Amino acid sequence: MRNGTARPLNELATRRQFLLAGGAGLLLSLVLTVFLFFLARRLSGAAFLSPTTRGGGGWAMFFLLAIGFIAVAELPLVLYGLVRMARRGLPGLALNSTHFVFVAFPAIYGALGTLLTGQRWWLWVMLFLSGVRLFTSAILIYPREMAEREAALVAKRAPPAPPPARTRLIEEIRGFILDMDGVLYRGNTVREGTLDFIHHLNAAGLPYLCLTNNASRTSAMYEEKLGRLGLPIKGEHVMGAAQATAEWLRARAVAGARVLPLGEAGLREELSKVGFTLVEQPPADYVVVGIDFELTYERLKQATLAIRGNAQFVGTNPDRTFPSEEGLLPGNGAALAYLEAATGVAPIIIGKPSVAIMEVALAHLGLPAEQVAMVGDRLDTDILGGQHAGLMTILVRGGVTSEAELATSPIQPDLVVDDLGALLARVAPERQANLANSTPSK
Ligand SMILES: [Mg+2]
Repeated sequence: MRNGTARPLNELATRRQFLLAGGAGLLLSLVLTVFLFFLARRLSGAAFLSPTTRGGGGWAMFFLLAIGFIAVAELPLVLYGLVRMARRGLPGLALNSTHFVFVAFPAIYGALGTLLTGQRWWLWVMLFLSGVRLFTSAILIYPREMAEREAALVAKRAPPAPPPARTRLIEEIRGFILDMDGVLYRGNTVREGTLDFIHHLNAAGLPYLCLTNNASRTSAMYEEKLGRLGLPIKGEHVMGAAQATAEWLRARAVAGARVLPLGEAGLREELSKVGFTLVEQPPADYVVVGIDFELTYERLKQATLAIRGNAQFVGTNPDRTFPSEEGLLPGNGAALAYLEAATGVAPIIIGKPSVAIMEVALAHLGLPAEQVAMVGDRLDTDILGGQHAGLMTILVRGGVTSEAELATSPIQPDLVVDDLGALLARVAPERQANLANSTPSK
């Protein structure tokens, strides 16, 4: 993730909208105050708690003090609520209209106090309180800044350089996160030792999760694909970037938040499954971009407008290209780069090597990072992502990483194995020996 060199336009738009909503509240408060000031003069004789009718003004003062106390006491409570809304990245209408009501509301207390007691100075006290509310909220809350702070936090927890190597021992490992393509299989061919390794995990009841940056399929679709390859892996043991993104967002967004997705059916299904409302155009609370094989200018336009309208920009995975028989084709990262150029806003990335997907995966396994190994064939995603999350990292040879790359890369795994069969020999030597004796090798 890079920092936009151009000043993000929608950051300015957001601050402006937030302050405009509060400013409109203050203006409404001022208009009401002036109107009530003249109205109260006409009605002053009829005020229920007027000092002239109720003697001495003791009741009037008591009443004003009581509503004054309420008006001041609710200030920190509502401010706290506004900060929480902004932190959750809840942008647009909900946050801004709450801010508007928050600033304008003292006018109601002003009207109540003045019309019941005939004390017109009370209106000006409440107008001053409206000003104080706008001042404090303007200082405390910049919604885009909050969203960016979170993005910066994710980026900080996923630094580009690998952290110092911390060698972990295979004996401490109780669960596995397995990359799929290049580790379990290559293309449509299951790799040597995969079946034995999966049988061992299933039989020993070891928690494991097959994790892929691909965001076009649901877990059920992967289960079917793995079944076709003859691998007995249930959908609950598979997680794609679509599901990881949906779960990551669910932990942060309010229920029913509006998501504008750019992606395949798998992504849409995962997002609606966790309760998001899918929209095709702004306003939206989030724009979520996965690989979309029918991407059009119209879709990119709607996403751009939504991000500029303050939707939070989330990418399922950063892969700029993916291999095919025709050569390298544009991947999800290419669409993210397009939108970043059009909006000046960098996306929050969920997929490997982001720590976000690793945290979602660890939560699924229910194990601490120290007891989990990340097994992959790519240094800059699988191994780097595993290191960011504090996992033991195991590179499988024969995938995308060449021997020359492994020898020169600054990213070094804790362990290198030829395939999952070789890993099984390290994890459970006795079982591997039994398998070798009892079943002819495939
Ligand atoms: Mg791979």
